Amino acid sequence: MSAYDVAVVGAGPAGCTAAHRLATAGLRVALLEKEQLPRYKTCGGGLVPRAVSLLPGDIAPVVERHCHRAEMHLVDAGLSFGAERPTFLIMMAMRDQLDARLADWQAPPPRYAQGVFAKYAALVSSASEGAVTSAPL
Ligand SMILES: Cc1cc2nc3c(=O)[nH]c(=O)nc-3n(C[C@H](O)[C@H](O)[C@H](O)COP(=O)(O)OP(=O)(O)OC[C@H]3O[C@@H](n4cnc5c(N)ncnc54)[C@H](O)[C@@H]3O)c2cc1C
Repeated sequence: MSAYDVAVVGAGPAGCTAAHRLATAGLRVALLEKEQLPRYKTCGGGLVPRAVSLLPGDIAPVVERHCHRAEMHLVDAGLSFGAERPTFLIMMAMRDQLDARLADWQAPPPRYAQGVFAKYAALVSSASEGAVTSAPL
């Protein structure tokens, strides 16, 4: 029988991200989902860059559109706001495709198991965490 260190319940973006972080840290993780993926989920499917940077893996294949302009209209208050950027403001994806991709994503094996590159990979944190070089040996 397989043993796990932790079970993550729910393979939405939060569960998938948690599961991958725990697995990357060396824990044996079971990711449990009550639905069969891919499954439809009610959602606008808009992803802001900060959220995308936290997701595991490359979601580019399931992104349908990059939006450079966004508007918000508060009809009752009679207020409207808009923003436009040369880089995208929001990526659009269907949640059935996005969540299935996140749940299926496997971290690629390290390209270097020994030598200076392996040592570098072991010692230096991810660029998203500041590429800190003081990790313990
Ligand atoms: C109409 C609408 C539009 C939205 N539009 C946007 C948007 O444009 N952009 C945006 O960022 N957010 C949007 N959201 C919010 C977004 O959908 C949620 O913030 C997001 O899905 C939360 O992710 P999560 O991983 O925490 O949970 P979920 O995505 O809800 O995932 C939870 C998972 O757990 C599973 N589960 C639940 N119970 C169990 C159980 N007992 N056992 C096993 N599995 C279980 C579910 O099947 C599901 O797959 C929208 C929400 C709605 C309702």
